Amino acid sequence: MKFYILTLFPEMVMQGLSTSIIGRATEKGILSIEAINIRDYTADKHKKVDDYPYGGGAGMVMQAQPIYDAWLSVVERVGHHVRTVYLTPQGRTFSQSDAKDFAGEENLILLCGHYEGVDERVLEEIVTDYVSIGDYVLTGGELPAMVMVDAISRMVPGVLSNKVSGETESFEDGLLEYPQYSRPEEWKGKKVPAIILSGDHGKVDAWRHEQSLLRTRDRRPDLLEKASLTQKDREFLEKHQ
Ligand code: SAM
Repeated sequence: MKFYILTLFPEMVMQGLSTSIIGRATEKGILSIEAINIRDYTADKHKKVDDYPYGGGAGMVMQAQPIYDAWLSVVERVGHHVRTVYLTPQGRTFSQSDAKDFAGEENLILLCGHYEGVDERVLEEIVTDYVSIGDYVLTGGELPAMVMVDAISRMVPGVLSNKVSGETESFEDGLLEYPQYSRPEEWKGKKVPAIILSGDHGKVDAWRHEQSLLRTRDRRPDLLEKASLTQKDREFLEKHQ
C-alpha cells in the first residue's frame, strides 16, 4: 500500500513513521510512505503557501493552488483518481473499521492542514473523506496523519508478523481486549491468574472472552451496547454485576 502525505512538515511525518513495525514494513517494501512538501508546489515567488482569511479573523489559511498542484502531482503519477483524506476536526471520527476500509486501497492521499485550515475550494475539488482523530483541535494534521497511517498499516497483510495479534486486539469483535501478562509469574505480590498458566487453551480462551466482556462493560459501556453478544455472554454479565 502506498501513502502520500501532503504536508508543510515532511520531516515530522517521515521521522515519526520510520521506526518500529511501520519502519520495517517500509524497508521490506510492503508499505511505501512518501511525504510531499506542499511548499515545493507554490507558484508564489516568495514560496508563500498561506494568506489572510477573506472576511477577517485570526490566523492564516493555506491557499488552494499549492495544495492542488501537490495533489495533482500524485494523481498524475498514479494515473487515476486516488482516495483523498483531509484530516480535520470537522470530519467523522476515525475508527478501527475505517482503518480496515482504508487498508483495502492501493494508494491513499492524506492532506494535513495547518494554521487556521485550508481554503474550502480546494477541499471541494480533491477530498473524498473528511476524517478527525477526536474531538479536540491540534495545531496541524501531521499527527492525525501518522495515527491513520499506523492504524491502517497494521491491517495491511504482512505488516504484523503475527496475523492473530491483529485479530484479537481491542475493537476487533466490538469488545476491548482482555488483560495481558508476561514474566514473572509474581510481581509486587501480584500473581498472574492461575487459569492462564493452566495450559488448557479452551479454558484460557473462555477466560479471556469473559475478561473482555467485563472490561468493555467497565470502561466502554457504549461499545458493549453495539457488540453482538450471545445469550451466554448476557447471562455471564448478568451474574457478574
Ligand atoms: N480552524 C479549524 C477548525 O476550527 O476546524 C482548525 C484548524 S487546526 C488549528 C489546523 C489543522 O490541524 C487542521 O487543518 C487539520 O488538518 C488539523 N487538525 C486539528 N485537529 C484535528 C483533529 N482532531 N483531527 C484531524 N485533524 C486535525
